[in-house]
Parts: sequence; C-alpha cells; structure tokens
Amino acid sequence: MSRPQTDEERRKQISVRGIAEVGNVTLVKKNFNRHLHYTLVKDRNVSTMRDYYFALANTVRDNMVGRWIRTQQMYYEKDPKRVYYLSLEYYMGRSLQNTMINLGIQSECEEAMYQLGLDIENLEDMEEDAGLGNGGLGRLAACFLDSMATLGLAAYGYGIRYEYGIFAQKILNGEQQEEPDDWLRYGNPWEKARPEFMKPVHFYGRVIDTPEGKKWVDTQVVYAMPYDNPIPGYGNNHVNTLRLWSAKSPVDFNLKFFNDGDYIQAVLDRNLAENISRVLYPNDNFFEGKELRLKQEYFMVAATLHDIVRRYKASKFGSRENVRQHFDHFPDKVAIQLNDTHPSLAIPELMRILIDEEHLEWDKAWDITTRTCAYTNHTVLPEALERWPVSMLESILPRHLQIIYHINFLFMEKVAKQYPGDFDRMRRMSLVEEDGEKRINMAHVSIVGSHAVNGVAAIHSEILKKDLFRDFYEFEPHKFQNKTNGITPRRWLLLCNPGLSDLIAEKIGDEWPVHLEQLVALKKWAKDPNFQRNVARVKQENKLKLAQILEKDYGIKVNPASMFDIQVKRIHEYKRQLLNCLHIITLYNRIKKDPTANFTPRTIMIGGKAAPGYYVAKQIIKLICAVANVVNNDPIVGDKLKVIFLENYRVTLAEKIMPAADLSEQISTAGTEASGTGNMKFMLNGALTIGTLDGANVEMAEEMGNDNIFIFGMTVEEVEALKKRGYNAYDYYNKNPEIRQCIDQIQGGFFSPSNPNEFKNIADILLKYDHYYLLADYEAYIKAQELVSKTYQNQAKWLEMSINNIASSGKFSSDRTICEYAREIWGVEPTWEKLPAPEDTPAAK
Ligand SMILES: *Cc1c(COP(=O)(O)O)cnc(C)c1O
Repeated sequence: MSRPQTDEERRKQISVRGIAEVGNVTLVKKNFNRHLHYTLVKDRNVSTMRDYYFALANTVRDNMVGRWIRTQQMYYEKDPKRVYYLSLEYYMGRSLQNTMINLGIQSECEEAMYQLGLDIENLEDMEEDAGLGNGGLGRLAACFLDSMATLGLAAYGYGIRYEYGIFAQKILNGEQQEEPDDWLRYGNPWEKARPEFMKPVHFYGRVIDTPEGKKWVDTQVVYAMPYDNPIPGYGNNHVNTLRLWSAKSPVDFNLKFFNDGDYIQAVLDRNLAENISRVLYPNDNFFEGKELRLKQEYFMVAATLHDIVRRYKASKFGSRENVRQHFDHFPDKVAIQLNDTHPSLAIPELMRILIDEEHLEWDKAWDITTRTCAYTNHTVLPEALERWPVSMLESILPRHLQIIYHINFLFMEKVAKQYPGDFDRMRRMSLVEEDGEKRINMAHVSIVGSHAVNGVAAIHSEILKKDLFRDFYEFEPHKFQNKTNGITPRRWLLLCNPGLSDLIAEKIGDEWPVHLEQLVALKKWAKDPNFQRNVARVKQENKLKLAQILEKDYGIKVNPASMFDIQVKRIHEYKRQLLNCLHIITLYNRIKKDPTANFTPRTIMIGGKAAPGYYVAKQIIKLICAVANVVNNDPIVGDKLKVIFLENYRVTLAEKIMPAADLSEQISTAGTEASGTGNMKFMLNGALTIGTLDGANVEMAEEMGNDNIFIFGMTVEEVEALKKRGYNAYDYYNKNPEIRQCIDQIQGGFFSPSNPNEFKNIADILLKYDHYYLLADYEAYIKAQELVSKTYQNQAKWLEMSINNIASSGKFSSDRTICEYAREIWGVEPTWEKLPAPEDTPAAK
C-alpha cells in the first residue's frame, strides 16, 4: 500500500480505516515511547524490530483494557444469557493489526510509526501466529469469536493454551519436516494470566457410594490456570474474553517421592502433569485415540464447566434463590456450544456436577443438561469420529463412564419403547459400541445430550439426516438444524486486502464490514469498465506483492501476468490435491506435445500441512514438489507453467494469498467436505472458483449463479450410485490416454528418476484403493479447467465474474452464521449495541 505524503493527500484518500487525527497520533507516539522505555527497558539505539513490535502491541493493548473491563462489568450488571463456545482449537493468527482495526486506531498507529521512522508492516511481521488450531474447524472458532464480540453477545470462548501450536512446516529436499512451534518464546502481550482463578481438575481414582450419593475419590489432581485473551468487537467498544487453560502441577504433586526422600525426582515429575497443555494434536479430520488427548479434552471441559457454574451461581440471578430451585433457570442463562465432539465430555461432566455436587435428581439434571448443550458436527469421515475405548475412560474418568452408561440405559429404554423389538436399530443407536473393543461413540453422546445438532453447510446437514445420523433424525427430528459456516469480513477483507476494501468503500460506503450483504450492490458495476479496471489494478498489485514474498522467501520468480491458480488447505486424500496434480501433469504433457499451441499461462500453487503420521499425505507433498521440479526446470515450458508448493501454510500466509488469487481450487469428492471456509475467503477477495458440488460450494453457486463459478464432477447422488455399482479406476485408465500417460509417469519414475519406485504407492492408490474416485472426475475436471483458461483470456468477462463473486459473498459472513446460532440455538438476540468508548484513548471519537 502506497503511503500518501501530505496531510492534504491523506484527507483526500477515501479509506474505510478513517483518517488519523493529529492529537491521537501524538498520544500513540507518547505511549509507544513509554513502553519502549519502561516495559522493554530499551532506547532507540539498541531496540530491535521485535522490541518495536512489543512496544506497539502494548500501546494498542492499553487502548483495549478500559473497554474490556467495562464490557465485563456491563455483563455482570445486566446479567444477560451467556454463550459459551467450547473448542479444543482456536486458530487465531496474529492480533496486532486486527486489534487496531477493530478499535478503529489503525491509521493513528500507522501514522505514529511513520513519524517515528518505522514501517508498521515490519513490526507486524514480528508477531508469531497463535496457531492453536489445525485448519477450518479452529479458524471457524476464531471467526466466531470476532463475530460474537461484534454482535455484542455476552460470549466466552474456552479452550487450551497449548505451549506448542500447530508445527511449522519446512520443505527439505521436497519433503515435509515438522518443527515445534515455540510461539510463546518471546512472551505474549495479548494474554493476562489469572493465577487467582486456578481450578483443580481430577483424573483416575474410583467411585464410592455414600449416603449423599456417589463420590469420586482418590483422584490425581492437575490445576488449570486461566489465561484471558481480549476479543475486541469491530467498532462497538465491546471486548469479550477467550479463556485458555494451562496445566499446572499441584504443589504436592508426587508427594510420595518427596516422602521417599527423592526431592529432585519429585520436582522433575511436576512436568508430567503439565504435559496436558503442552502441544496441539496435529490431526485434521482424524481421530487418534491417545490417552493424553482424552486428558486434554477433559481438562478443558472440567475447568470450563467449573467456571460456568461458578459464574452462574455468583450472578445476581443464580444467587437469588435457593440452590435446588435456581438450577431450573440454568438453561435460560447459559448456552454451551460444542465445537465438534472434542469437548463432548461437557455433557457427562455437567451431569456429574448437578448430581454429585449440587445433589439434583437425575431427571432434573438431564433436563437442564440437554436444554443447555448444543452440538456442531464437522465431518462425516468415519476415521474422524471420536470413539473412546471404554477401558481408557474407566481408568481416567470412572464416574463419567458410569454416567454415560446410565444415559445410555435410559436412552435405550426410550428407543425400545418407540421401536419394540428393533434390536438392530438399538445396536446402531447405542452410545456403547460392542463390536470389537468396547467403545463410547462421542457423536451419539453429543446428540442425545443436546437440544440442537447442526451441520455446517446445507448439503452436509442433509447428509447427516439421511446418512450418518439417520436413526437419530428419525427418533428426534426437531433437534436437527443447519448453520452454514462463515468467515469474518474484518480479517478476510478489511485487514488482508486494503486495496479492494477502499474500492468497495468508494462505491457503497463503509458499513459493509458489519453488513456484508450490502456487497450485493456491487453487481450493478460488474460490467462497468472503470470499476473492472480498478478491480484488475488491485488484483495485480496484490499479485505483485505475493510474487515479491515468493521471491524473497523461496527464491522463486513467478510471472505476475500468469493466472494464480491456488489450492491451500490441509493435505488430505478427500480434498484431492492429487487431482490438481493430475491436471498439472496433463498441462505439462500437452505443452510438451505441442509447444506452439495457444496456452493460458498459469502459476499453480498448492500449500498445506500433512499430519505428521499421515504417510500418504506426506507422499502427496513429495509428488507435488517432484512434479514442480520437473515442470519448473523444463526450458520448453518456460513462462507458461510454474508449480509452487507453498511452505508452512497458516493464517498469516492465507492473508497474503487470498487477495492475490485468480482461481480457487475446491475439488473435494462430493459428500466429503462438510463446508469449507477457504472457499469463502477466496470468493470474498474476487477469485473465481473451480469446484465440485460439495460443502458450501453448493450455496456459493446458488448465491452467484452457475455462470460465475466453474462447477464440475459428480454430485453426491452420482458418487453414491458409483459406489453402489462398484468403482473400477481401470475403466478410466484404459479409456483415456492422457490419464494413462499421467499415471504411467507417476508409476514409472518420470518425476523421481533417482528413485523410480518412489511414487508407485500413489499410482497404486489411484488405480486400486482410491476411496475418493479421482479418475471418475478427471475428465470433467480437465474440461472445466479448459473453460477456466479460455475465460481468463477474456479479461472483461473474467472481471465481470470476479465482481459478481465479491458481490455475492454477503451470505458467507460469520456475522450471519452467528445471528442464526444466536436466534435458533442459543435463544439470545444480537444487539449490535455500541458501548460508549472510554474518554482517554485515541479511539474515543
Ligand atoms: C480458512 C483456513 C483453513 C480452512 O481451509 P479449507 O479450504 O476450508 O479446508 C485452513 N487453514 C487456514 C490457515 C485457514 O485460514
């Protein structure tokens, strides 16, 4: 972004981010210098860029604390219904720029840094991503926090403060290497530890009967230390809280050793307990039934529910009646949303608290629990569904296992009453799976223990009703809902694409960041040559900027006039990065066959992390890198085709990629991607989509019309039919010579001359074990790509489609999603209320 030189020029520039006021700029500079001196204990001679980042972060943070305290005070006084979002993942990315934007002080801070001779972008680049998530599910939680604060909901995020977030991906000799993400190394200016609110969490032990009921005794205790993170709403002076728990050893941990005289060993062993919050499990859409992961899930849930119940009892409402009665109103004052089954132990834990600690009757406790909890399903992939071995629960959480068994006993009674003699249905619906090792199906626990169950896109919610949860839908149809995912337009347009933001503001004003549906007004300029030229200019600037980053970080030169064709998301077979790879190889073979033919130049970029234990996903990365190596070094290919594997895809890289993309690849097998949110980020930034009728792609196509998107391939019904009649990849291999050439090259070592057998396993999967039907969609995909190339040659047409994409993306604001959750699940009404700003800060205007 070019910086206007004079005040006059600054004033003329139309910007959603407002104009810096001189007095406020002075105040920012003063506070920045104060922090550099008193907080960082540095002067300008010895300060590093990181010191400047911390000084600015602290300055910005100071602007938030008054709002934060006052928002929480207001919640205490008004005592509205609280919404608790429980998630094992929050993929937050960076906070500095987002906080400045939401507080409305970005231009003041930029100007202050400029006057101090600093480039604010260099400071921002010093911030580590808070990578406490794997992919879409974790980023959704982060977008939801932003929307809940912006809508003025009394909402709290609860999760784990992992000491190590998602690993950093290094590509070495074309292979993924994982490095631990030590994101807290230099400290975190955005969190506030609250040691005074530490809570005990119990594990192991046994259950005894007492006159007062069941008691869980002889447990091992780990403490949960809360760290509060501010979540500022956009321009409304609300600041909500994300509370993340960190594991702390009790002082008397392993006292046995201490008594044995092994003091050193006793101190060393304190680490064992603190391992609970050490590291994020790096699996996306995969259940790895590890004991430590179960402990993480319960640790988060137990500490959080303790907090929720304490806050309810301390509220004016909760404390006004006697204990037994006042829990009747718990579901009117508390909503708990479970982000997938990961926090589903909240259901037996709330039952345990109400029965064993508050001494409520089972039926009363069950009514309260089901009316409080709601469950969001995020996947239908069987390998991702959590099914904990009974033996593991029995040892770690014996009382919860008892409660789950009793929930199941009563549930099975109800099922038997409705379907007498239908034992197969009872077996299918049981919370306890008895075939093979005995396991608890946590999705079943979540459905039975919730009043609402939702999928995350229309097609996904239908599949849940028809397929995965069919029996449960037939039994309790009223529970099932859809809540199509969304993304926050603050981070995914205003923050990451200032050029496009300003263009939009020139046309429709500056309300769109909180009323994204207003973008539809841009449709009338879709064919306007002037607007098209401006949109094209901004896209070109963004592409140049990404090209510079690629050259600086990877030493790769790309042709910025080529089409930027991008697929970024976790590497997974169902997402079909391999299908993209087959297209690349096909293009390569076509260029080699006829080098003089007309060709639309492309730079194809693929990025994403593979779970460290997912062998095939790592092989796919290796193949992409190997193909890139051949394509990029072939002089015949030249500028026509470049292939880049984007290393270490994460939120901060996504912010640079989305604004620069021409084409978004959303090519999962129909019926496998629950929603996708990457697809929405691309669309909002004017990229066109090539995609299957899967997840939210279906609704994107509905919003923009089929003329503005490249839809190809089998529908869910066609995939089902193919599965039924039997898929034989050789049918396609034998019929299509281009497929045959691609697979023979992969098979025969064309891309791995030093190890010809390297990719045999991939060819084997494609021909014999492919669960995602790549070859069945190949031809349709290649055809659609040909249409993409042809359309790109007609820039007026392409830009018209691009503008129509932007104009149609209003539905995919997470504000819309959160409004629906609020009204249809949580029973709260968004206020969009603006609180008064504290008087003494630059943002008080
Ligand atoms: C949005 C986002 C995702 C989700 O992408 P999908 O294409 O929906 O899988 C994953 N990772 C990051 C860093 C994201 O920002």
